[in-house]
Amino acid sequence: MIEADLLLALRERFGHGAFRPGQQAVVEAVLRGDDVVAVMPTGGGKSLCYQLPALLLDGVTLVVSPLIALMKDQVDALRELGHEATFVNSSLDVSEQRERLRDVAAGRYRLLYVAPERLSSPRFLEAVASMKVVRLAVDEAHCISQWGHDFRPDYARLGELRVLVGNPPTAGFTATATSGVREDVVRQLRLANPRVFVAGFERPNLRLIVRRPGSVAEKMDLLGAAMRESGTPAIVYAATRKNVDLVASHLASRGFEASAYHGGLDSESRARVQDAFMSGERPVIVATNAFGMGVDKSDIRLVVHYDVPGSVEAYYQEAGRAGRDGAPADCVLLYNYADVRIQRFFLDGANPEPSMFGAILERLRAGRAGAADLALASPSKNPIAAETALGMLRRAGAVVREIDADTGEEVYAIGTLAEDGSAPIDLDHLRAKRAGDEERLRSICGYAAGSACRRAYVLRYFGSDEARERCEACDRCQGIGVAAARDLDEHERKIVRIALSGVARVNDRFGRSRLAQFLFGGKSREVTEAGLDRLPTYGKLADLPLRTVGDLLEALADEGLLHRRALDGPGSGAILSLSDEGRRVMLDDPPLRLALPGLGRAGVRMPREPKRSSRAPRLAPTGPVDVNLASRLRGWRLGEAKKRGIPAYAVFHDATLEALAAMHPRTEAELLTVPGIGPRRVATFGAELLQVLGAEEEIR
Ligand code: ADP
Ligand code: ZN
Repeated sequence: MIEADLLLALRERFGHGAFRPGQQAVVEAVLRGDDVVAVMPTGGGKSLCYQLPALLLDGVTLVVSPLIALMKDQVDALRELGHEATFVNSSLDVSEQRERLRDVAAGRYRLLYVAPERLSSPRFLEAVASMKVVRLAVDEAHCISQWGHDFRPDYARLGELRVLVGNPPTAGFTATATSGVREDVVRQLRLANPRVFVAGFERPNLRLIVRRPGSVAEKMDLLGAAMRESGTPAIVYAATRKNVDLVASHLASRGFEASAYHGGLDSESRARVQDAFMSGERPVIVATNAFGMGVDKSDIRLVVHYDVPGSVEAYYQEAGRAGRDGAPADCVLLYNYADVRIQRFFLDGANPEPSMFGAILERLRAGRAGAADLALASPSKNPIAAETALGMLRRAGAVVREIDADTGEEVYAIGTLAEDGSAPIDLDHLRAKRAGDEERLRSICGYAAGSACRRAYVLRYFGSDEARERCEACDRCQGIGVAAARDLDEHERKIVRIALSGVARVNDRFGRSRLAQFLFGGKSREVTEAGLDRLPTYGKLADLPLRTVGDLLEALADEGLLHRRALDGPGSGAILSLSDEGRRVMLDDPPLRLALPGLGRAGVRMPREPKRSSRAPRLAPTGPVDVNLASRLRGWRLGEAKKRGIPAYAVFHDATLEALAAMHPRTEAELLTVPGIGPRRVATFGAELLQVLGAEEEIR
C-alpha cells in the first residue's frame, strides 16, 4: 500500500491527521506479513499498529490482551468508529461467548479481542481453529517473560495458539524493553526473523535533570527551586503516602497551592483532587504512582520525583507526562542513594523469600490462623512480603480462607498441597522475577548516578536507535549541578586520595555524613564521641565546603572507588568502605577521569566574568568555563567526529574544549595559545572553530 493511501485510511478510519512516531513503519510491516516486535511507550499508540491493518486485511485479527478491564473500552471505541470488533472474556456468560465466536467464524468481525485465560478453554481453542485468522497481535507482550514485571502463566500457551490458528504473521507489542524480555517474546511467540521497532521514546522537549540532595531539607530546597524555574502545572511524585503528605504540607507552607493524592484517600476525595488539578484550579499535585493512569493533561511543565522510582520504565512513564503539548518541560529526579531503601522494601514485599511459604504452612499445621498471626510467623520482617506469600499460596490452592464460626473473623487453613507436602509454588519463577526486579532497580540507579547524557541512557535502555552521544538538553549535557566526567588534575587527584585514605582509616564503619564531617574537621558529637578528631586524617579537607566533601564521597561511591553497604530501615544511609579500585587509586595515583563536583581551585562552576575587550593573545585559561559555549563546542565536535568517522576525543579532548570555552580565542594566533591545540589542529579545524566561537559571540 502506498503512503498516501495509508494516511488516507488513517484519517478515514480513525480521524487522526498523522501517524505518531514509529506507527507507520509498524503498520506497513504488519500489512506486509512480517513478524514484528514493537516497543513503544505507554500511550504511544500501539493499538493502532494492529487495528489499522486489521481493517484493511481480509479475515480476522486475533488480539490477545491481558487487560480485561480495558478490553470492552477498546472494542466500544472501535465500534463507535464503525469498525467490526468484538471481545470474548470471562465477563461474558457462556452462551454469549459461544455466539460471538460463531459470528467471528462466520466472518462478521475484523478484530477479536481475547484474554489469555481463554487459551486454557478447549471450547475456545476449537472455535478459533475454524476461523480465518490473518494476523495475531499480542498486547503487553512482556507478560510472556518471567523476566518481565508482569508475568502471566497463560501467555506461555501463545506459541501453541499461533500454530492452532494456522501460523499467521504475528506481532508483539510492549512498553518494556530489556533484551531478556525481548528475546523471550521472540522465542515464545516463535517469531521468524522479526522486524523489531523501538519508537516514540525520544521526547525532545523534555529536559532531563537529576539532582543529588544530601538531606530532606536540601530536597525541599531543590524542589522549591525547580517549581520556581520550570513553573506549573507540576506533578511531584513521592514513593509513600507519608512522603506525599510531608511534601504537600511543606509546599503549602512555602506558598505553593499543592494538593495530595494517594491510595489512602477515598475515591471521592481522589476524584476531587484530580479534577482540581486537571482544571488548573490547583496547579501542583503531590502524588504516589497511583496518580496518572489515563490522566491526559497536556500542559504539565514539570514532573519532579521526590523519591527514586523502581525502574527506568516507571520513571520515564511518569516523567513523560510532562510536556505532552510539545512545549519545553522539565523532569527532575531528586536522587539520594538512601532512598533506594524504600524501593528495596517494596521489592522485598513483592518477592517473598522461599522460606516464607514453608513457615506459613508450618504455622497452619498447628491450627487455623488469621493474617496477622501468619505475618508474625513468617521469617521476614516485611509484613507486605508475608501478605504476598499468603496471596500466592491462596491462588495456588495451598491455603484456603474460612470464616471462623465463633468469632466471624477471616482465618486461613491448609488446602491442597503438592504430593510431598510442600507448597505448590514455582520457585524458579519467583527467583527469575526477583532478579528482574533487582535489575530494573539497578537500572534507574544507573540513570541517576551515571555521568553521561541522561537521554542517551534512557534511549539506549529502551533499545532505541535514536540514541546519540549527547542531547544538549539534560543536566549532564548542559553542565548543570555536578560536573560531567573529566580528567582530574594533580590537585584534584590529591583531594581524591585524601578522601580515600580517610575512608580507609575508619573502613566500613560510617556513612557519608559522618565521614564528611571527619574529613572536613567538624566538631559535632558524632565526630568527637567516635574519637574521629584524634585521627591523622581529621580535618584534612577543611578547605572545601562540608557539602562538597559529602558530594565528593557520593561521587567516589558512584564511580566505584568506594563500596556502599546498605543499612536496614528506610531513611538510613549506606556504610562506605574502600573498594579494590579505590585502594589502587589511593596507592598508585593513576591518571583519573571522573565526574566530580567542583573542587575549589579546579572547580568550573563560577559566575562568568565580565567580557574582555582586549583581543591580545592570552597565555593561559584565566576565565571560568562558559558552559553554554562549551556545550555548543561539544555539539560541533560531535559533528566533526561523525563526519570524519573518528571518536570525539580525537577531535579535541574535553580539557581542550573547556580551555577554549574559558579563553574565547578570536584568531588563529590565539588558538595556538590554547593548551592541546597545535599548528596541525589549527590547520585542520581552525577556520570552523573560529566560526563557532565567533557565532557564539554574536548570540550574546
Ligand atoms: P498504548 O501504546 O498505551 O497502547 P494507545 O494505543 O491506547 O496507546 O493510544 C493512546 C492514545 O493515542 C489513544 O487515545 C489513541 O487514540 C491515540 N492515538 C494513537 N495513534 C494516534 C495518532 N496517529 N494520532 C493521534 N492520536 C493517536
Ligand atoms: Zn544529554
